[in-house]
Amino acid sequence: MSKEKPRSPSTPHRQSQGGKDFRKRVQRSKEAGAPAPQPASKPRAGNPSAKPAIILKAEREKSLQRRHPWIFSGAVDCIDGKPASGDTVAVHDVAGNFIAWAAYSADSQITVRVWSWHEKDVIDKAFFRQRIADALAARTALSLDRDSNGMRIVHGESDGLPGLIVDKYGDVLVMQLGSAGPEHWRETIADILQELCTPACIYERSDSDGREREGLPKRNGIVRGTLPENVEVLENGLRFAVDVAAGQKTGYYLDQRDNRAFTGTLAADRDVLNCFCYTGGFSLYALRGGAKSVLSIDSSLEALELAQRNVELNRLDASKAEWQCADVFEALRKLRDQNRKFDLIVLDPPKFAPTAAFAEKASRAYKDINLLGFKLLRPGGLLFTYSCSGGISDDLFQKIIAGAALDAGVDAQIVRKLHAAPDHPVLLSFPEGAYLKGLVLRVAG
Ligand code: SAH
Repeated sequence: MSKEKPRSPSTPHRQSQGGKDFRKRVQRSKEAGAPAPQPASKPRAGNPSAKPAIILKAEREKSLQRRHPWIFSGAVDCIDGKPASGDTVAVHDVAGNFIAWAAYSADSQITVRVWSWHEKDVIDKAFFRQRIADALAARTALSLDRDSNGMRIVHGESDGLPGLIVDKYGDVLVMQLGSAGPEHWRETIADILQELCTPACIYERSDSDGREREGLPKRNGIVRGTLPENVEVLENGLRFAVDVAAGQKTGYYLDQRDNRAFTGTLAADRDVLNCFCYTGGFSLYALRGGAKSVLSIDSSLEALELAQRNVELNRLDASKAEWQCADVFEALRKLRDQNRKFDLIVLDPPKFAPTAAFAEKASRAYKDINLLGFKLLRPGGLLFTYSCSGGISDDLFQKIIAGAALDAGVDAQIVRKLHAAPDHPVLLSFPEGAYLKGLVLRVAG
C-alpha cells in the first residue's frame, strides 16, 4: 500500500515567518502549556501532511544555504510537532524563515535530509516521479548504453534523492533505501520505477550496516516482478553474472566501469595482480586486453566462484587466470616473500573508513597494501590504487600513497587520477558524493 499523502491543491501558499523569532514563540507556547504552536498548526504550502518543523540553532543554517542537504542533530534547536521517522518536515532558521523540505530521521545522527529547497514544492508522488525521471534523463544524455546495459540510475543526494540508490542490471533494478526518507516512500518509489523503467524485477537490497545506524531493520527481497534465475550485466561488451540477492552492495560495482576499461587498455603482455577482485571485474578486462597472466585475490569464495563463471561466460582464456581465496594483507606478504613480481597491480579494497573518524586506522591499512604493492611491481610497472572511503579525502589518499612509495623505496609518477563513472555524479554542494578516488601510478623504470 502506498504511503503517499494526498495532495491538496487548494492549500494556501503560506509565507515564511521572516524576521520573527519563531523559536522563541515555540518555546514560549510549550512553557505555557499551550496547544500546538502557531506555525505547526497551519497547513504548509502544498505539504498539508508536513506539519512538523525543525527549527535550527542560530547560524546553523549556513551549510544549508550552501545547499548541503544534511542537518546533524547538533544543529537542531527544537522540533515543532511530533514527526515520525521519514515524515516530511519544514526546516526553519531561528527567525522562522523557510529553508527546505526534508525527511526526518529520528534515530540518525543526520536528523534531516533535504528533499527540496523550494517552499512551493510538494513532496508527493509527482515530486518523486519528476526527480527519478530527471535522473534517468541525465543518464540517457550520457549515452552510457553502448555495449553496456548496467548503470546507476539514482545516486542518492547527488540526484536530489538522499538515501536512495538504484542500480540497473539489464532489466533488473536493485534499489537500496539507506535512510528513513526513502523508507517512508518505498512503495511510491517502487511504483514509479516500475512505471518509468518497466523492469522484469525490482529487488531491494536494504541490508547495509548503515540501516541499523538509521534505526531501520535490514530488508532483502523482491519488491516487484520475478527475479530471473541468472541476472547478468553487460559492460563494455563483457558479461558479468550478478548475484543481486547475496552479492555485495547491490550485487556489482558499477562505479568502476570506466576504470576497469582503462586497465584493460594497458594490460597487454603484462603480468597482472588484481587484489580485492570480487567477481573478477578488473581481471576480465585484463584478460580481454591481452594480459600474459592474471592473479586475482579475494577473501570471498562466492565472489571467486562467480568470477570464474564470468571468465567462462566471456570465453576468455582461463589458463591465464589464477584465483586465490585469501586475505590480501597476508597474500601480499607471501608474494613478497616468494619474490613474485608483476607489471600491473590493482588494489580496490572495501571501504576502510566510512567516516573521517576512521581515517587514521584506515590510512595505516591503505599504506600497508600500497607499500607492498609498490614492492611487487617491476620497474616501469603500473599501480591502479583506489579508496572508496568517504572518510579519506583525495589529498589524504595521495599523501598516503606518497608515503607508501617513499617507504617502499620507489619513485612513482601519477599517470591519471580516477573517479567513479559518470552515472555516479557528484553534486557540487555535496562533496561527500565523491567517495571513490583512484590513482594510476607508474614506478620508475
Ligand atoms: N574490484 C571489484 C570490487 C571490489 S569490492 C570490482 O571491480 O568489482 C571489495 C572486495 O574486497 C570484496 O569482494 C570483498 O570480498 C573483498 N575483501 C574485503 N576484505 C578483504 C581482505 N581483507 N582480503 C581479501 N579480500 C577482501
